[in-house]
Amino acid sequence: MSADREERVHLPIVKSSLRSDGSRDFVQPADVRGRFQNARRVVYVLLVVIWLLLPMVKIGGSPAVFLDIEHRRFFLFGSTFNAQDIWLVFFLLTGVAFGLVYLTALLGRVWCGWACPQTVFMEGFFRPIERLTEGPREARLRRNAGPWSAGKLARKIAKHALFLLLAFFVAHVFLGYFVSLPGLFRMVRGRPGDHPEAFGWAVALTGVFYVDFSWFREQMCLVVCPYGRMQSILVDRDSLVVGYDERRGEPRGKAVRREKKEEVEPSVGDCVDCKRCVVVCPTGIDIRNGLQMDCIGCTACIDACDEVMDKLERPRGLVRYDSLAGLSQEKKRVLRPRMYVYTALLLLGVLVASIAFRKHTDFEANVLRIPGAPFVLDGSDVRNAYEIHLINKLPRRETFTVVPVPQAGLTFIMPTQSVTLEPLASTHVPVFVTLARSSFQGQLTLRLTVTAASEPDEPMTVTTSFLGPTTP
Ligand code: SF4
Ligand code: SF4
Repeated sequence: MSADREERVHLPIVKSSLRSDGSRDFVQPADVRGRFQNARRVVYVLLVVIWLLLPMVKIGGSPAVFLDIEHRRFFLFGSTFNAQDIWLVFFLLTGVAFGLVYLTALLGRVWCGWACPQTVFMEGFFRPIERLTEGPREARLRRNAGPWSAGKLARKIAKHALFLLLAFFVAHVFLGYFVSLPGLFRMVRGRPGDHPEAFGWAVALTGVFYVDFSWFREQMCLVVCPYGRMQSILVDRDSLVVGYDERRGEPRGKAVRREKKEEVEPSVGDCVDCKRCVVVCPTGIDIRNGLQMDCIGCTACIDACDEVMDKLERPRGLVRYDSLAGLSQEKKRVLRPRMYVYTALLLLGVLVASIAFRKHTDFEANVLRIPGAPFVLDGSDVRNAYEIHLINKLPRRETFTVVPVPQAGLTFIMPTQSVTLEPLASTHVPVFVTLARSSFQGQLTLRLTVTAASEPDEPMTVTTSFLGPTTP
């Protein structure tokens, strides 16, 4: 049995929003209330607040998230990365991707229904605006099918004006992640010609968000999103999904209260074919046809059906969160071979990523030999010239001190030993080293320590070689 259960689940692509001639059937989902919708609203608001705060809140003097592509520097939760750290992005992206695979195997499309920006903005903000300006589903359908009137035009203009305004706002906050909020405010107050590139992005993003949320909508999940298309290989019979309990629901009966049902039609199921679960679905599918690729796990059909069951005094949960195994009354399993393998891979990934991130230092120091002759003979001395290339990777201004490790016979000459650098600024500190020609017995290793003022106990040691003539 376990081999069968580990098999991929075949999810049919319903394309519920397409008519048989290929044209689009614009989905107009009905309003729905219930515990999941309340919880989702809270989650959406929390996520949007976090999204608004991330470029605003400062950690260690820099925004919590600031992806300064123009200057190739990235500020993430108090750490600063520059172009040399780009290899760490590999761990970040693979970590996010694998996290999604893990989450999906365990909890199905919980990401799509609860946290994907497409769903958060669509269901949490754009849909309520539509409801506010054009009324409930029935009114929208009736008005859309009817002739144009002043009232219809006014409602459409109001809706699209608000959509545009919100798309404009979303685009600008999104841009704030790349140009910082002070930078964004400066640009918004200035003329478009002063920053044509950012202005172009703002216009393009506003347009993309407006088209997406006003027109494209669920097609983004059904046609464009690759994660949605991969559900068949990510979920199995033990993943948590939104499903219809066919055993309990079929054959469908009449909408009568529980005690009456026992009286008049005791042998039928609990589904009364009211289609509430269908009309509330934002992708327009009928969950009673089984798990489908088009289901984004938004839980609207759970709340809709629970509402119907409450009215009929029947138990809730005809449509519910469950695994396909649970809906078929097989034994439910959270831990299964796939999850053991995924967990082992996840732990391995976390281990490798933490080792990689530990290699990320707060500053970089490299000794470079000044171009030209490798050494200079200066009377009875041999002289080597170097410069230390210092990069401050801390998100704040920092002072660094360079101190040579004393070595018999060597004289270090440094015009300056201490430099102060802005975040991600770099400089070259010259170092001249001399040794009596008679003492030079072959190549020597030089050591210097570089210490950040805020971390005096964590000096970095850099080494280089001292060169001289092969014959005394
Ligand atoms: S809402 Fe519930 S009762 Fe109504 S059609 Fe859907 S599954 Fe059946
Ligand atoms: S079937 Fe239910 S959970 Fe899936 S998208 Fe439709 S309403 Fe949401």
